[in-house]
Amino acid sequence: MTRTEKAAAVLDRLRVAIPAPETELAYRNEFELLVAVVLSAQCTDKRVNLVTPALFEAYPTPAAMAEAEADEIFPFIRSVSYPNNKAKALAKTARMLRDDFGGRVPRAHADLVTLAGVGRKTANVVVAVAFGEAAIAVDTHVFRVANRIGLVNDRPTPLAVEKGLRRVIPRDDWGEAHHLLILHGRYTCEARQPHCERCPLTDLCDYFAALQRLPAPLDGLDPKKGRYFCKTTGRYFDEPATHVDRRGVEQLADPVSGSMNVYDARTGQTTRRVKDYRV
Ligand code: SF4
Repeated sequence: MTRTEKAAAVLDRLRVAIPAPETELAYRNEFELLVAVVLSAQCTDKRVNLVTPALFEAYPTPAAMAEAEADEIFPFIRSVSYPNNKAKALAKTARMLRDDFGGRVPRAHADLVTLAGVGRKTANVVVAVAFGEAAIAVDTHVFRVANRIGLVNDRPTPLAVEKGLRRVIPRDDWGEAHHLLILHGRYTCEARQPHCERCPLTDLCDYFAALQRLPAPLDGLDPKKGRYFCKTTGRYFDEPATHVDRRGVEQLADPVSGSMNVYDARTGQTTRRVKDYRV
């Protein structure tokens, strides 16, 4: 299966699992969307939705917000992450919208990224969601899910993931794919604990396949002889070495032989770890 075929299969299944793939941020126009997306950086949509009603009532337009100083905006957003920086960014962006863009949110990606607090991801969300343009915004969820499934080839940065996804997903599907992958990452393929047991993508997922290839647990190990056991050498030991495997993952190793074929003597489980993206 090519990556393009895999991407098509993934989107088909996610469309069934996620019937309403859209942003969970509450907004009524492109200005409110822009503000909400700025506030959502490193923060949950739920938390943002709690603070934006009062914020939008106080400052319903770019012109109204442009009159405010950052310390006037701060009390409305104090419970989101990085409120100081975001209050400054919103005050500055509102002034830029008023002074440079006629009081409106610009449609062009190149203009959006000139605004304070607006990076490539935020601009992609705004052009896709507010203006219906083709764009794939890569946030932490999209980054993690795309790498785990193998929609991209082990890409280290959001921009590299975005480029990889643009290659394998048809342009018309970019906006929908962004929401499907975000929602899949938020509710199923979570960072710390992916719920593979209820995921419809197990047979398509590289990370899941790698987990299945891990060695089976060993029976009959004696933890009194040592905390760890190396199956290659038959040695027990307490203080493991660490080696980096060919995928760049740090693994526990037998301190004498260097073998990474190591088991936890208490549980019998392999200590080998699969490369993951826990962002
Ligand atoms: S199988 Fe597991 S790791 Fe793979 S996409 Fe599903 S939840 Fe994520």
